[in-house]
Amino acid sequence: MTKNLLEVKLNQKINNQGGKIMSKPIVATTSLAGCFGCHMSLLDIDDRILELIELVDFNKSPIDDIKEFTQMCDIGLIEGGCCNSENVHVLKDFRKNCKILVSVGECAIMGGLPAMRNNIPIKECLEEAYLNGPSTKDANPEGILPNDEELPIILDKVYPCHEIVKIDYYLPGCPPTADLIWNALVALVTGDEMKLPYEVIKFD
Ligand code: SF4
Repeated sequence: MTKNLLEVKLNQKINNQGGKIMSKPIVATTSLAGCFGCHMSLLDIDDRILELIELVDFNKSPIDDIKEFTQMCDIGLIEGGCCNSENVHVLKDFRKNCKILVSVGECAIMGGLPAMRNNIPIKECLEEAYLNGPSTKDANPEGILPNDEELPIILDKVYPCHEIVKIDYYLPGCPPTADLIWNALVALVTGDEMKLPYEVIKFD
């Protein structure tokens, strides 16, 4: 669906509701074990971002730098899977504070690139990262592995979000295209059926 068609659809919906969206939906976003590419794709909706901020308010999100939930949200967008205890805590917090939870991108849906470590014992991963890797083997002569108690506990493997909490929708892609995220958001905000044509779905 093109931008113009979406605008028309959205305006029709708004007109049907007496000229405005009945209550402005609240959106929260987070990045767990991800690379922020999915957030970049969200920002890649270009000038539609102006429509988006007319359409919704953002709560906890790196987009507005709000660190904690200040109210119940309608839609939570999750980038990244869970590789440590902090990711699990944040994801559960999103489930508690968002009516609809969306896994955005392959990392959230199935672990993505970080899950490449899932077939390697965690001890071996840590040794490669901190003891034996080309950039660390001479820089860490005492062989110290990160052990500060403030650090989140690393999990035995990287978990997709739906294995931790209930997820309502999945937006595939690495990252999902800006059009896919836009189509999905407009559908969720207007209550329309979510249509995700082949052209906006991207796997690579
Ligand atoms: S799905 Fe791709 S773009 Fe999104 S966080 Fe994962 S690696 Fe980055």
